[in-house]
Amino acid sequence: MKLGDIELHVVSAGHVLLDGGAMFGVIPKPMWEKKMPADGRNRITLSMNCLLIRAGGKRILVETGAGDKMSPKLRDIYGLDGPFLIDRLQTLDVKPADIDIVINTHLHFDHCGGNTRIENGEVVPVFPNARYLVQRGELDHAMHASERDKASYLPDNFAPVGAAGKLQLVEGECVVAPGVELVRVPGHTEHMQCVKVTGGGKVGFFFADLVPTTAHLPLPWIMGYDLYPMTTLENKKRWIPEAIREGWLALFAHDAKIPAAYLRNRDGQWEAEPVQVD
Ligand SMILES: [Zn+2]
Repeated sequence: MKLGDIELHVVSAGHVLLDGGAMFGVIPKPMWEKKMPADGRNRITLSMNCLLIRAGGKRILVETGAGDKMSPKLRDIYGLDGPFLIDRLQTLDVKPADIDIVINTHLHFDHCGGNTRIENGEVVPVFPNARYLVQRGELDHAMHASERDKASYLPDNFAPVGAAGKLQLVEGECVVAPGVELVRVPGHTEHMQCVKVTGGGKVGFFFADLVPTTAHLPLPWIMGYDLYPMTTLENKKRWIPEAIREGWLALFAHDAKIPAAYLRNRDGQWEAEPVQVD
């Protein structure tokens, strides 16, 4: 897909299976399972959607999926079938060394596990020539995660990137390349960031875990994982109507069927109109 001079691809890093109840917070199961059926372990199938953006001569990767460092036990718990990211980048003729910038919207393992891999027993960055952009507050939190969320933060996904001198910490809004902007959107975590891509009069907005799937468009459909659900609510009220009003292309981090859509307001109901992207 093209936004003016900017090229945008959605690249899935594979699937992750997460507890349906945790994914939909206060929404009762009979409601959410109509949209996303659960397996025998109450897990729903989510994709780990990444973006490859070419802008201003830079190759930018948004998110890296769960990677391949997890133990067989955790791979089973999370139903991981990847990693596919490197293979899928290859089909777009992009090698790890070609990536200039990696953006992690936050440091949960399903968004940054593919940052690093094990080579000769050592954990090293996958993208040797990239700087990795993370919000400073998100890294601080990841290093001191609470009992409630530390299972989501695996230091091997980000500490070796810092040790290699490749982490670039940003605070608040930041222009990454012409037309590519980071916006801090708290709620899921205090310092999560979304990515706004503007080109040729069009805007693509990567909702990260603010609206992880199209099923999460209605206001009360907020993940149980969110540390600040009332802030998520406020930010959904801000960003979804703006995306509808301005005709933005909405990009979803975890929707296995609809990674990209235009959002519509149909008689007060927010709906997604799927868009084919490669
Ligand atoms: Zn997350």
